Amino acid sequence: MTEASPVMVCAICGGASTVAIDPPRRTFARGADPTDASYSIIALLPDIPLCDEHSEEVRGRKVSVGWCDDLRCRMFGESGAVSACGQPYKELRR
Ligand SMILES: [Zn+2]
Ligand SMILES: [Zn+2]
Repeated sequence: MTEASPVMVCAICGGASTVAIDPPRRTFARGADPTDASYSIIALLPDIPLCDEHSEEVRGRKVSVGWCDDLRCRMFGESGAVSACGQPYKELRR
């Protein structure tokens, strides 16, 4: 089996995603550039990949999706859950 392209997985459970929904907000303020204080970095967030079950739960607000902006992550996950880098995913507010 070859991996031609990264498989999109559900942000909540890691299963195969079937849909991608708009994030609550499209931008994430990364803060000032440490090498240039006059320049602040705004990251653009991608769509949130979700499986059928979790797209229902997110739409029904049973789960909320957060974002981890650590260099090792920069991905969605369940808000408040611990991400791969050890920091919790931060809730994205409108
Ligand atoms: Zn899922
Ligand atoms: Zn992380």
